[in-house]
Amino acid sequence: MSIMVPSKTPALITPGQQALESALHQLNQAAEQLGLDDGLRTMLATPRRSLTVSVPVRREDGRMDVVQGFRVQHNVSRGPAKGGIRFHPSTDIHEVTALAMWMTWKCALVGIPYGGAKGGVAVDPTVLTTRELERLTRRYVNEILPLIGPEKDIPAPDVGTDEQTMAWIMDTYSVNAGYSVPGVVTGKPMTLGGSLGRAGATSRGVQIAALAALGRSPEGVTVAVQGFGKVGALAAQYLSDAGAKVVAVSDVTGAVHSARGLDVADLRAWVAETGGVTGYRHGDTLGHDELFELDVDVLVPAALEGVITEANAPRIRARLIVEGANGPTTPEADEILAANGTTIVPDILANAGGVIVSYLEWVQNMQAFSWSSNEVEVKLRDLMEGAFGEVKSLAAERGLTLRQAAHVIGVGRVAEAHQMRGLYP
Ligand code: GLU
Repeated sequence: MSIMVPSKTPALITPGQQALESALHQLNQAAEQLGLDDGLRTMLATPRRSLTVSVPVRREDGRMDVVQGFRVQHNVSRGPAKGGIRFHPSTDIHEVTALAMWMTWKCALVGIPYGGAKGGVAVDPTVLTTRELERLTRRYVNEILPLIGPEKDIPAPDVGTDEQTMAWIMDTYSVNAGYSVPGVVTGKPMTLGGSLGRAGATSRGVQIAALAALGRSPEGVTVAVQGFGKVGALAAQYLSDAGAKVVAVSDVTGAVHSARGLDVADLRAWVAETGGVTGYRHGDTLGHDELFELDVDVLVPAALEGVITEANAPRIRARLIVEGANGPTTPEADEILAANGTTIVPDILANAGGVIVSYLEWVQNMQAFSWSSNEVEVKLRDLMEGAFGEVKSLAAERGLTLRQAAHVIGVGRVAEAHQMRGLYP
């Protein structure tokens, strides 16, 4: 029996529902491979705890706005819930649930002792002042306070949040506790117990995954990156540092292309100065959709979910896709790309570097200790390469795609933990 997916009218489906549907589809495929029974499938398909809150925010002009916030703990069988907090206008409970589910499989796949969670606030952070953002963050944290804690559920940055957001969360939680609790959140500034290597960790992981999947020297390999933000910009930098030629990048402002290869450091400086890639002098303007269709070796989607669909998948020419974003490829696109022989390093593997170094940050916090950047880098590389190797061998052994194999390993570990613990009472 398959997991019940709520019936929907395709035209009315929201991006969040689409993401959840993709996540459930992937779970179903893995459950089939693993031969899981119906009870276990239902448990893994539904979140353990799910909280929706209304967050009142005082605006600068004195008005009060109310925005929706969410925190979903998908599974806690293997350890405390772990996952970022997203500030984005179109986030909803379905998207946050899908993202929490992917966190569960991701942590299990790379072998770190966490369950999966995600948080979200349906707001556009770019239109708020810093003071409004601070008030919003603190009030949202206050609303989800009963759920979070260093032994229970540990937030981190995601789309639209950063080190400063994490500092406010750490402070709000600590003030309520009456003492400093650095381990309640990861991705903190260094001065509050952040870890060396955390800021670039997701991007470093994308680079490690891409190089492992290429299996040859990256010298001259052409790369296009969709989403030149927190993850994509540094992934482009690290791939370029390794010898690859980044020929195109895009962000919300536009896309730029240069067949000779972009100077990624110079482009990052331009973005820091102007706020986006658009107008960059040393490249040609490109349509957003054109980036996906470029004749490149590697495509890195590093923005939001559902950008590679059945509509553009047939025109994708990259032989390798490395998913820096969560859920960028729909199941329909997955099938088309698999049939075309495109290799996809799936999100739960390719972007796991962020949560891996979050885990290392949390371990350092819990021990009141800190490691050198080299120690962090070596541990990150070991975990990423180890997981990549396991996924690749299982895929070869069972004739699965890398995404299917990654899910079989991740879902299988969570199911095993659940079965070993047994059911209480
Ligand atoms: N938001 C990141 C992710 O999707 C990091 C989560 C974390 O570090 O807990 O993997």
